[in-house]
Amino acid sequence: MNLPGKSSLKVLTKLKKLTGRYFDPYPFVHSNKGNGCYFYDLDGNKFLDFSSQIASNPLGYNNLELKQVIKKYSNIQPIKYAGQDFAVEEHLKLLEELSSITPKNLNAAFLINSGAEAVENAIKICMRKNEKAKFGIAFNKSFHGRTLGALSLTNSKQLYKKNYFQIPNKILTYSEKALEELENILKHNSSEEIAFIILEPIQGEGGYNIAPKEMINGLRKITLKNKIPFISDEVQTGMGRSGKWWCIENFNIIPDVMSAAKALQVGATISNRDMFPEPGAISSTWGGGHKLDLALGCKTIEIIKKKKLLNNINKQGKYLRKRLQELNFNNVRGIGLLNAFTLKNQKLRDDLVIECLKNNLVLLGCGYESIRLIPPYIIKEKEIDEACEIIEKSYRKINKKGFKHQGEICNYMNCIKNIT
Ligand code: PLP
Repeated sequence: MNLPGKSSLKVLTKLKKLTGRYFDPYPFVHSNKGNGCYFYDLDGNKFLDFSSQIASNPLGYNNLELKQVIKKYSNIQPIKYAGQDFAVEEHLKLLEELSSITPKNLNAAFLINSGAEAVENAIKICMRKNEKAKFGIAFNKSFHGRTLGALSLTNSKQLYKKNYFQIPNKILTYSEKALEELENILKHNSSEEIAFIILEPIQGEGGYNIAPKEMINGLRKITLKNKIPFISDEVQTGMGRSGKWWCIENFNIIPDVMSAAKALQVGATISNRDMFPEPGAISSTWGGGHKLDLALGCKTIEIIKKKKLLNNINKQGKYLRKRLQELNFNNVRGIGLLNAFTLKNQKLRDDLVIECLKNNLVLLGCGYESIRLIPPYIIKEKEIDEACEIIEKSYRKINKKGFKHQGEICNYMNCIKNIT
């Protein structure tokens, strides 16, 4: 298949001229057509989606129940409210559903626009709680978003940070070494000076690194002992993708704060009611005020429960890892439907993503040399087989000496590198 097709290229060419960032999207434009894990582009090309819109589309394309929700709201104006100051019923419905799936002590949530803002407000509530705090703690290879506070704690790629001012923070290594490093920080600083520790239970953009058990359990012990708020960034890993509602639950840990977004359709900073500051300390005009987004998030939780999709996530995740291991890929890893493997170098990785795309399979890169596979929660065994066959065939092709992609697609290859 030649990508982008004629109709997609027309749109992409114009878009590139008008957008305010260096725009390097995948080489196709979505049409409205699709079903389940498949979608079509403007040229009628059919793709199998193992990216789930970067984990933000958990139920695939044209889900009938979600379409009914959209229909219900199609004749309503305004659809968007100044949600922190004016209440709508959808607030309550979403918060009730959300509280039914969060650990008991995390009994309140602040709704906001995006993942970065969910993180931003998670760190803000921790700072507000502790007047003596001077800095936060994050990890190497982390990704927490692109607003300045969240970006200060992001370390996956220097490109994201260059020249931007930072909030004060220290960085731990995402390995067992972190325990010693944290003890060392505590030797030279009082625990009160630490506003929070923030971590992804599986690092997403940084390479699908799974938190070592010894590290994460040790960190929780130290943070509990020293009363340091522990934030689990669940923007990518949460909402069921790990086979449990929150990825941190796979480690039997209850954090003090969680950030969620993506699959939830709105951002949410989740914690105990007591952690949140006085009125006005955190807010936003549109944060949590889009009726349709709230209703879609609520219905998404309902569908995951009703269809028992956590079971499917666990079952298909295991099957996917087994198939990838049979193909002899390096470092096949994952929990639930958060899966990845590693190629020998970045060129091979990028070549494989592009070749799969030419064969109708959408994958995402992560880190420098890894590929992540994060299909919708409704994925079936036969679709995993189809994806693995495409990966195998594509890998054989790109692995030949002197292999080079040809044509227009070469202009779109940067897109693989910078996806969050
Ligand atoms: N935190 C994590 C772990 C993420 O993966 C992302 C986005 O990929 C974010 C935060 C930022 O979310 P958003 O892009 O919605 O601002």
